[in-house]
Amino acid sequence: MKIKYRVVTVYVLVAALMLPALTSLMGCAAQEEKKHTRTVFFMDTQVDITYYHPSAQVAQTDIAEMFAEMQRLEKILSREATGSDLHRINEAAGREAVEVNPETIFVLRSALEFAELSDGAFDPTVAPLLEVWGFGGDFPAVPAQEELARARELVNYRLVEIDEEKGSVFLPVPGMRLDLGGIAKGYIVDRGQESAQESTSAVFINAGGDISIKGRKPSGEDWRVAVQDPDNPDRFLAIITMEEGSVATSGDYQRFFEEEGQRYHHIINPFTGMPAYELSSVTVVATDTMTADALSTVIFVLGVEKGLALVESLPGVDAILMDNSGELVYTNGLEGQVEIMTD
Ligand code: ADP
Ligand code: MG
Repeated sequence: MKIKYRVVTVYVLVAALMLPALTSLMGCAAQEEKKHTRTVFFMDTQVDITYYHPSAQVAQTDIAEMFAEMQRLEKILSREATGSDLHRINEAAGREAVEVNPETIFVLRSALEFAELSDGAFDPTVAPLLEVWGFGGDFPAVPAQEELARARELVNYRLVEIDEEKGSVFLPVPGMRLDLGGIAKGYIVDRGQESAQESTSAVFINAGGDISIKGRKPSGEDWRVAVQDPDNPDRFLAIITMEEGSVATSGDYQRFFEEEGQRYHHIINPFTGMPAYELSSVTVVATDTMTADALSTVIFVLGVEKGLALVESLPGVDAILMDNSGELVYTNGLEGQVEIMTD
């Protein structure tokens, strides 16, 4: 089957945010669903929850529990936090296996599956490369060639050993390190969504562009997710209309530094050790946020051709890609569901 893509040129950068929801027009007295919102800053980003329920008290209690669950998981899965599962695994590299929480095993297994799927373009052992670039620290800089070469030798997801029975993880080479930054946020958003009470009619979570939508708004309208220009909040390039599901965006504009006029960002091609340069933004639509999050990073590294081929091979997954010249491409599954804004 030949697949046709619509191509539109745009000159904006992309981020995802929810369009201001229209106020409900349905005024049904006693059990009226109301919109409750709360924002907390963690996972290095702003996390918003929008929650529909007749009772403000039920809503706020539940929202607090959702945040608590997500923050618990962040502590386990963070690479930097001392005492986190990841930190302990990394510290014990080359020495011994480390017992960890079942959640860590699950996310790591999933990350290894995305590594297989992308032949290593996505690699949860990419941390040594992130470290020589200084991403996550205060002084990122272009590393020396020898430093890059040394770090690249430590990146190999095939070497990760998981012992399901013992619930332990072992990195066999000293200096090897795990980083789940390309997948954990999506997983955590899914877990936050799952921990919401059933009595809510709808929940919208947005963790810096990793979005999970469950249930319908009381007005019955579809949700509208805008893919936005982060440098210019008045502009966006596309609106995705959806009933439920997840959206995640990876871009070169949020976490980067500049050296001698060149922009270097935090999504690394493990084969070159350099930031992946072909795309400037990837938005993935999927049924769960972990998949959308991981695939947005995968496709960012793979580039347009291989990225689109991968998306088309996966059921229930769609994507909008913008290359570094501003050209926009989206997959057939989004036809009729996405509105491209050009000006
Ligand atoms: P953001 O964190 O800005 O939402 P992404 O979801 O695309 O963006 O994740 C980027 C993160 O993924 C990086 O900060 C890093 O932790 C991790 N990462 C970078 N390159 C790779 C790679 N090739 N494979 C797996 N993870 C990566
Ligand atoms: Mg991602």
